[in-house]
Amino acid sequence: MSSDFDIAIIGGGAAGLAAAIFASETNPNLSIAILDSAKSIGAKILVSGGGRCNVTNQRVTPSDFHGNRKLIDRIFRRFDEQATVRWFTSLDVPLQTEDTGKLFPVSNKARMVLEALLQRCKALGVFLLTQHLVQGITREEDEFIIHHSQGTLSAKRVILATGGRSLPKTGSDGSGWELAQQLGHTVTSTYPALVPLLLDPSFFHAKLSGISHDVMLTTNVNGRTIDRRSGSLLWTHFGISGPVVLDASRFWVTASAQGEDVHLHLNCFPELSRQAIEKWLTEAATFPGRKTLPALLAERLPNRVATTLASLQRPDLSEVPINSLIKESRRNLVQTLANLSLPVIGSRGWNFAEVTAGGIPLDEINPGSMGSRRISGLYVIGEMLDCDGRIGGFNFQWAWATGYIAGCHAARRFSS
Ligand SMILES: Cc1cc2nc3c(=O)[nH]c(=O)nc-3n(C[C@H](O)[C@H](O)[C@H](O)COP(=O)(O)OP(=O)(O)OC[C@H]3O[C@@H](n4cnc5c(N)ncnc54)[C@H](O)[C@@H]3O)c2cc1C
Repeated sequence: MSSDFDIAIIGGGAAGLAAAIFASETNPNLSIAILDSAKSIGAKILVSGGGRCNVTNQRVTPSDFHGNRKLIDRIFRRFDEQATVRWFTSLDVPLQTEDTGKLFPVSNKARMVLEALLQRCKALGVFLLTQHLVQGITREEDEFIIHHSQGTLSAKRVILATGGRSLPKTGSDGSGWELAQQLGHTVTSTYPALVPLLLDPSFFHAKLSGISHDVMLTTNVNGRTIDRRSGSLLWTHFGISGPVVLDASRFWVTASAQGEDVHLHLNCFPELSRQAIEKWLTEAATFPGRKTLPALLAERLPNRVATTLASLQRPDLSEVPINSLIKESRRNLVQTLANLSLPVIGSRGWNFAEVTAGGIPLDEINPGSMGSRRISGLYVIGEMLDCDGRIGGFNFQWAWATGYIAGCHAARRFSS
């Protein structure tokens, strides 16, 4: 039977574009189409990394991800961060590493990344079918019938790359999971991850809007610490954001959605132990003069944060000289500085989440090919899968790696 295409890729995001390029390079004789619901392809790449696209990280390990780490490891053994650097260099997009370990295009422009991928697809003769919302896929004899918003087409192999539900206005609205379910796959519960958190409006965050500083965040679930991490926190008008919050959000969001008793605690001095904070305050109290508490805290914190934390004390300690603090006030202060309970009331949701936690279980996929263990000729890649990385270029690395494996394998199977 002659199908319209040898390979149809559903979704033209990072993973789908990578799969198309590697499939076509593996077997240039194949006819390959990308079907995407969006009017123009690659909106998420364009907004990524603040418009600069954090393409990968200088060191990618399975511990940077949530999911089945044994299988994640097998996938990155096939296509690691160095392979990403070589690939982008070959596409004329040299990358540079920042102090944080994140890699960005030297041009600092996400558009260069997208244009390079689209140009390579064009040069290889990949068909880009935009405004093709795929609504159903059926397996008939030795081909797939793909029902989309403009009709139907057939393909010998199908690669599902429809992303998750983060930033749905870019086209990733979760509809792709239904396609996988129609074909016999399961989907775990899904939650927004790498997402800013909302604090109770009566808290002081709005007064500090725009200020960022290093902190440590601890997430406790049912009285047990499940996550502790340090990094930069950004106070905003709605609550908290910044890398450390985005990374911690997954723990708060999933535990809260599952009805657990979850609490987030802030330590403003991540480099000091509780005892060290106490010692610092005690020593400061022995100095002569009338240095106030905000002035002392401002030696290690932004001014406004220092003033706000001092005024949180009962009684308000903003004007009190540090050497007249009584022991009990010092003890309460240490508690505020090292373990302040943040009144999280929710997350900013899918419109502000960078990635999806949950998806199609990795054990339903063969990590050597990204092929479905349920339907032959079907592949699943990218954010659709139950794997999500922390901030730092890890999620794109996942998209490139899974796209590479699926593209090469789907195309090779024609030559045998
Ligand atoms: C604001 C923001 C910034 C980010 N910055 C970074 C960063 O700097 N570094 C990093 O590593 N990660 C970043 N990420 C995460 C990263 O962008 C994603 O993990 C990655 O793009 C996922 O790629 P994907 O191809 O699996 O899915 P997507 O990029 O979501 O692509 C899926 C495509 O499928 C299409 N589609 C969906 N359903 C259908 C359907 N039924 N029919 C047809 N087409 C369909 C969509 O239109 C979309 O084009 C960021 C995410 C966001 C939201």
